[in-house]
Amino acid sequence: MADPRETVLEIDLGALEHNYRYLKARIEPKTKFLAVVKAYAYGSDSIAIARKLEALGVDYFAVAYTHEGAFLRDHGIITPILVLHPQPVNFDQLIARCLEPSIYSDRILKAFQEAAKAAGQRHYPVHLKFNTGLNRLGFREEDIPHIAMKAQQSEALKVISLFSHLAASDDRSESVFTHAQIDRFKSIVKKISGKLDNKPFLHLLNTSGILNYPEAQFDMVRSGIGLYGYSNNPDLDQELKPVATLKTVISQIHEITPGESVGYNRAFTARNKCTIATLPLGHADGLGRIYGNARGVVSVNGQKAPIVGNVCMDMLMIDISGIPCDEGDEVILFGKGHSAEMVAASAKTISYELITGISQRVRREILP
Ligand SMILES: *Cc1c(COP(=O)(O)O)cnc(C)c1O
Repeated sequence: MADPRETVLEIDLGALEHNYRYLKARIEPKTKFLAVVKAYAYGSDSIAIARKLEALGVDYFAVAYTHEGAFLRDHGIITPILVLHPQPVNFDQLIARCLEPSIYSDRILKAFQEAAKAAGQRHYPVHLKFNTGLNRLGFREEDIPHIAMKAQQSEALKVISLFSHLAASDDRSESVFTHAQIDRFKSIVKKISGKLDNKPFLHLLNTSGILNYPEAQFDMVRSGIGLYGYSNNPDLDQELKPVATLKTVISQIHEITPGESVGYNRAFTARNKCTIATLPLGHADGLGRIYGNARGVVSVNGQKAPIVGNVCMDMLMIDISGIPCDEGDEVILFGKGHSAEMVAASAKTISYELITGISQRVRREILP
């Protein structure tokens, strides 16, 4: 492990490889694997992550926005990239960078057909997104006759995959709903298949889908959070390794006497004598104010220390009373040995939000 000396987000590519192999082992060998690397690969480092996964032979990448895909191309990534949520204003860039759009509405279909035609494209690969119950993006089953005809008529594009997204694959108590989504997807596939002259590949499952509904893996799965070491299931989290570890150092230690306060607005007042350590990271680095006032807990030499008072922009204070430590010692905010899922739960949120929120101010350190 690297000695931090300042705030760093350590990215462990060995952990990534472990998680990739673990998830691959849960699906059929013939099922393709798409790695979701949107939002800087869930707040880590999309270039380092994509390069490693490309070397491991991943079949596809997905990003949310066009510029995220363009950034990967700029750094030499040649694997196909699905753009989950493009806008018409991005289509010229998308085509120029050989990115593949999710087509999720009539407006997008029409605009993409025009852009592809104007760019002189023939059979440009696109992916049709269906709404099977999430009610976020996608065509509905009743749109099929109309979109199939439009897609079929256009020489400029070719539908190479059909997909949908599950709303509650992590929640066992919603399995009736999830099975209904799976059935609706199958019915959509059946309806549209006869209307296209090629046979598009199919994909539905995210990480929790892979773990809970492997029977619905179709031709490809799309995994994000699992690759980064979290599974939305405390038992399975044991099988995965956190890729990102947010570390910092103790800048200064203060001995506080009863009645003294700590930080802005005196949000913490000491009842007893206590020892407070100041850390060089704050809400501008992605550790929100919600974690202040003893909600969030950090790890100091393997022991838990609560965050006291309000989180500042560039600093936060922790109570290290009774914990043997010195100025300059390492502190772990989340990651190895201190699960982001658990830290996030203290603020009633999920690992996804905590890990994707680490700002670009924090230096990324890549471990091979
Ligand atoms: C973000 C996303 C995923 C990845 O989900 P995880 O729960 O992180 O595995 C898969 N598919 C779509 C459409 C997404 O937007």
